[in-house]
Amino acid sequence: MRIHALTTGTVRVKRAFLYASGGWRRRLDLFLPGPWSSPLPIHCWAVEHAGGLLLVDTGETADAHNIPFARFDVASGQQLPGALARAGLTLADVDTVVLTHLHADHMDGAVHVGGPVLVHDRELAYSRTLAARLAQRVVRQPVPANVDFQAFALDGGPFGAFAQSRPLSDDGRIVAVAAAGHTPGHVAVLCIDDDGRHALLAGDATDTLEQLHALRPDAVAPKPAVSVATMQTILAHGREHPTVYLPSHDPESVARLQAGTTL
Ligand SMILES: [Zn+2]
Repeated sequence: MRIHALTTGTVRVKRAFLYASGGWRRRLDLFLPGPWSSPLPIHCWAVEHAGGLLLVDTGETADAHNIPFARFDVASGQQLPGALARAGLTLADVDTVVLTHLHADHMDGAVHVGGPVLVHDRELAYSRTLAARLAQRVVRQPVPANVDFQAFALDGGPFGAFAQSRPLSDDGRIVAVAAAGHTPGHVAVLCIDDDGRHALLAGDATDTLEQLHALRPDAVAPKPAVSVATMQTILAHGREHPTVYLPSHDPESVARLQAGTTL
């Protein structure tokens, strides 16, 4: 098994996103003037395994709209096809595509994918609620049209410390696990490498490893307590199984993947 980190440009987010205040100002601060982070990577992942090539998330596209708390910088050559090419891969090599959640910087690249794109059924259902569609319109981040989203259930029982899971490969070494919080149906993808070490493609369960250890929810999680419970589950999993923790926007994720540094 080989995990490739793909980078589809960068995003800067308001500090109030990463270091959310508690209480009623948590979301309000996102819309008020404030300092910004340095550019953070927008990673997605290509996993070469015995059964083929799995893509986890599809990254952002060059026509992304900035929103009040995120500014995107994606050149056309950094989009999914270019990001795959830099890893020596093409879209034609991809057998399966799965999304951690339906935020623009994870799903927009799905426009490049011809085949089905797997999404947790709870996440897909949430994206179609009136509240979610209004929010998508306000921030001009609609779910891309003409993508063949296919819902999957986390019906594979517990996996390690995770309460719900679903295998994504025939040999059971790649598994989607429940990691709700950042969004209601957010999932992460666990890969068990050839040495038995676990790598957790964490999506936006947290933005960084530091945020995981601090048990600090971001400013957009609908229910911060759900985010914190997921962080505790990830840490509990890491205590049982050496796990390389790979959030999508952590500037340290690539170095951690290359060094195999575990939680
Ligand atoms: Zn997100």
